[in-house]
Amino acid sequence: MNLFSLPTSLSLSLSLSLSLSSYLFLPLSTSPLLSTCLLPQHFSLSDSLISFPRTQLLHPHLILIPSNMTTRKCAAVVVGAGPAGVAVVGNLLERQLGTIAWIDPTFESGRVHRKYREVPSNTKVSLFQAYATSLQPFRTVIENTPRPNAFTTLAKLDQEKTCHLHYAADMIRGLTNGLVKMDQVLACHGFVTAASLSGSREKEWIVRIKQNGPDGRDEELQLQTSRLILCTGSHPTNLPIPIPDLHITPLDLDTVLKPSVLSKTLPTTKQTTVAVVGASHSAILALLNLVNLAQSSHPSLRVKWFTRHPLRYAEYMDGWILRDNTGLKGLAADFAKTQLEDSVLSTSAAGKVIEKVDCSGGREKESEMYREHLPDCEYITQAVGFTRDPLPKLLGEKGESLSLEFDHETGAFHGDAGGEKIPGLFGAGIAFPQRVVDPYGNVEYAVGFFKFMKFLKKVVPTW
Ligand SMILES: Cc1cc2nc3c(=O)[nH]c(=O)nc-3n(C[C@H](O)[C@H](O)[C@H](O)COP(=O)(O)OP(=O)(O)OC[C@H]3O[C@@H](n4cnc5c(N)ncnc54)[C@H](O)[C@@H]3O)c2cc1C
Repeated sequence: MNLFSLPTSLSLSLSLSLSLSSYLFLPLSTSPLLSTCLLPQHFSLSDSLISFPRTQLLHPHLILIPSNMTTRKCAAVVVGAGPAGVAVVGNLLERQLGTIAWIDPTFESGRVHRKYREVPSNTKVSLFQAYATSLQPFRTVIENTPRPNAFTTLAKLDQEKTCHLHYAADMIRGLTNGLVKMDQVLACHGFVTAASLSGSREKEWIVRIKQNGPDGRDEELQLQTSRLILCTGSHPTNLPIPIPDLHITPLDLDTVLKPSVLSKTLPTTKQTTVAVVGASHSAILALLNLVNLAQSSHPSLRVKWFTRHPLRYAEYMDGWILRDNTGLKGLAADFAKTQLEDSVLSTSAAGKVIEKVDCSGGREKESEMYREHLPDCEYITQAVGFTRDPLPKLLGEKGESLSLEFDHETGAFHGDAGGEKIPGLFGAGIAFPQRVVDPYGNVEYAVGFFKFMKFLKKVVPTW
């Protein structure tokens, strides 16, 4: 059936817009106006709502707004299109469950593209490659993508080395671009605002989505599904400034991890001291970026490094990695070993820029160190972990707010304090990682592209 033969009963408004979603939801019945802007291609109109890729619009700035809200039923609704969302969609497609609705404001690889393109990876290229090729739908995307592309670029890198994360972000973007074109995928540029459980025997989620409509007006869409999967990501944790009321400017960790932005944020000539709090992978990368700046364009830049712990490194054991998720790896580990360890800091190039403030020895001692050193700093950046991004409002059957506990073994959720399993609700990615125990009994949370994939391959068949 092509568009010229569609019934014309339902009214549609036609608008001009400069900001366009790649995919638009259209009702089954459409107005004659459609034929003025859409190419008569071979659409299959089997449902009450369908999505049209932007390439099917004759004029790139024309979009159509449905005049009513309809609820479409899907096999799953996946929230978020970062590396975790992409891996979830791939795993669900492999199971051939039916239509997968996929919601994200931009479909641009998530935070790794927005914030971490300039960050050196802590994993080898081969793990990004393993992620990209581990599912049949991904391999189909790779085969159908004109070359050269992000996949051929990644494949040409030294697989045993680390790389900058822009290679990984572009690979995710390439997979996303291919997946959203698949018939079973209903991709929607928007934001999931709420979801509520309904149904008596068969529990379903009614998922509400806000789309940025033309003229800045929000459009509301609604989907119904038995599987709602949250891959909504995390952001750097911001703790209160250790000395309340101190006049000091917070410097976003994401800014410090992006040298091209960092160099424009800090003054080039004025004597400036940045406090860096923490000794995590991100903290060491922050120190590295600040030292690089001080050694080049910002010679008056100095750093006070507040740390409680000795530096901890990932160790390659027989077939497994000790401190795989918490230890330093790659460039950060090399920099820490050669320039930051107590034995070398006083003589290293980094030591000319960094003053280490030892905060070990308990709270009292730590507070004392902050009181002594923090007033010398103009900026503070805290690399003290990551916090889940806000979730959509999740409501139970009686409209009550659900308080959730994530099950790090199965990817499902329970009601608070070991309550009953919440039907059809799942999570993945940095916000909802797998809990792993190493052969020494150490517990960690598995965060990384390929770790998400391994976890999902195990649990998605049970969802
Ligand atoms: C500094 C740093 C370095 C790292 N280096 C590596 C590395 O070398 N190798 C590795 O494997 N891993 C690395 N990681 C870890 C991890 O792989 C990344 O953090 C990864 O990008 C997390 O992916 P995600 O999909 O869980 O979340 P995100 O990338 O944050 O994606 C979440 C997406 O969900 C969307 N979203 C959120 N809420 C909603 C909503 N309500 N409705 C619709 N959409 C929504 C967001 O807009 C976003 O697009 C690193 C992490 C950090 C912080």
